[in-house]
Amino acid sequence: MSLRAPALWFFAGWAMLATAGAAWAQTPAPLPPEVAAPQDRPYPGVIRLAVDAHDLRRHVFRVTETIPVASGALTLLYPKWGPGSHAPVGRIDSLAGLVIRAGGQRLEWTRDTVDMYAFHLTVPAGASSLELEFQFLSPTDENQGRIVVTPEMLNLQWLSVVLYPAGYFVRQIEVEPSVRLPDEWQFATALEIASASGATTTFKPVSLETLVDSPMFAGHYVKRVDLDASGPVPVRLNVFADRADLLEAKPAQLDAHRALVAQAYKLFNSHHFDHYDFLLALSDRLGFIGLEHHRSSENATAPTYFTEWDKNPDTRELLPHEFTHSWNGKFRRPADLWTANFNVPMRDSLLWVYEGQTQYWGYVLSARSGLVTKEQALDQLAYTAAIFSHRPGREWRSLEDTTNEPIVAGRQPIPWRSWQRGVDYYSEGELIWIDADTLIRELSNGQKSLDDFARAFFGVDDGQWVAKTYTFDDVVAALNAVQPYDWAAFLHARLDRHDGPPLDGLARGGYRLTYTDTASDYFKKLEARRKFSDFTFSLGFAVGRENKLSDVLWGGRAEAAGLAVGTQLIAVNGEAYEKDRLMAMITAAKTDNAPLEFIVKDGNRYSTVRIDYHDGLRYPHLTRDEHTPARLDEILAPRQ
Ligand SMILES: [Zn+2]
Repeated sequence: MSLRAPALWFFAGWAMLATAGAAWAQTPAPLPPEVAAPQDRPYPGVIRLAVDAHDLRRHVFRVTETIPVASGALTLLYPKWGPGSHAPVGRIDSLAGLVIRAGGQRLEWTRDTVDMYAFHLTVPAGASSLELEFQFLSPTDENQGRIVVTPEMLNLQWLSVVLYPAGYFVRQIEVEPSVRLPDEWQFATALEIASASGATTTFKPVSLETLVDSPMFAGHYVKRVDLDASGPVPVRLNVFADRADLLEAKPAQLDAHRALVAQAYKLFNSHHFDHYDFLLALSDRLGFIGLEHHRSSENATAPTYFTEWDKNPDTRELLPHEFTHSWNGKFRRPADLWTANFNVPMRDSLLWVYEGQTQYWGYVLSARSGLVTKEQALDQLAYTAAIFSHRPGREWRSLEDTTNEPIVAGRQPIPWRSWQRGVDYYSEGELIWIDADTLIRELSNGQKSLDDFARAFFGVDDGQWVAKTYTFDDVVAALNAVQPYDWAAFLHARLDRHDGPPLDGLARGGYRLTYTDTASDYFKKLEARRKFSDFTFSLGFAVGRENKLSDVLWGGRAEAAGLAVGTQLIAVNGEAYEKDRLMAMITAAKTDNAPLEFIVKDGNRYSTVRIDYHDGLRYPHLTRDEHTPARLDEILAPRQ
């Protein structure tokens, strides 16, 4: 999954505190029996799953499902844990209209009283299959969750539209899926077509594991580009857009995407798919996504990805990141993250490899492929390094503990990112892998690099796409095979540390993190496209939509003055807030002893706060250190 997840709003209920002190001894009511654990045995028969996805106005997916069964007790599960999300993301609240029949006779179901994703029923004697009807009521407004249906396109995730029998590994449950789309729409998916009739397409049966790993994008405005015509297997870019003109891509832009495939093959020396389909939505209506699969990836980004190419360099790490995941995350997967079905809890302890190293290779491949320039890559890394140089949360929370964040916080907005830390295993993980890469290069006198690790760790079993799990010790052993060193101590020191910042890799890469009063071109474009103004490294806050603070640095000057995320900036030094005016005032305050005076609004309350700051604007850059080899330049250069 990609770093920037959709913003979801959750409303917390009131917590009730039980009062203690009853005079009699209460005994707890027993819990119900646990739902049957999955076993590695074939589920008898093939489930037929038909999804009607043509109701664009209501955003409703209507499902009919035929499940072969034997008589007796049966438990059906709605998927809870999402591969690639590493968290219990299943929208059980969006399932509605569930009616189950056997031979035309309606059967009553009851929901498990503990596991809200489990439905119990009794199959009557003589029945050999169940007919299920239900709907997946996908969000109709952004405040309900990620929008997956728009008038122009849709994103079908099979995880949302299937019930499956408990007690079996999902790789042992065979499903024949079909989908009805709006007339004249085209689609892309890693699934293979068995037959088509009108707007309904039936796919070849696959395991439920593969089905969930093979989502679909469909839409009205579509363009397909072959990215590797002479390669070992097809790799396609399937672009879906809000309008036809947004599909116009220049040859040089497509060549950079072709170079991405070529550079990934050089890096990993393998492919773990028999074909690969990038699903790419260029939309400001479909919700953001970056979600990895073995043979495809779901990507949504700026509608002007191609048509305003110069304005959005920050969008171009998305495809390299998700493509890398086919190797790192889908093929090689942490042992505690691989689960037998979608209702067994995932454990995320190795996400600093799964996501952290993917963040690193996504970054490296975006430069090696030419999707971004070397200068843009350096400016981007400067920003990452600066963010993690301002991370007071490291004092209480180790990087390793942040791997629990998808489960702890569910990726909803948090008030104090720098103190709570969020999903830091992505980008602080990236800094650790730069550290490791430059260390291997230094120790081996430039003979070895993390590329050799990638080739050894991900390049096995070429052509296979069955998940191959690993542990911490496997990672250490693979690093040692490339370059002997105490890698276990190296990694533990960085995963457990309470000081920082983790900038050794930059230094060994031949660069220093510096600040000037001028933002880099990359930084300015990032601010413009994401509609925020980042004063984190000076005043300790960022300003977002409606001039509300979108981030406030814990322990920074704004936090010390009592400001928090959500507070609205009204005026500075008596003038209505405007980004450029504030920048000029920060500069003027360098030679003025007076504090900056802000009028802010919190709810319906206005107040005045003063920030006594005189160090001027500060924006991060990487500055070349001529005393150290430019190892970072070598890392970012395309492989020949
Ligand atoms: Zn990811």
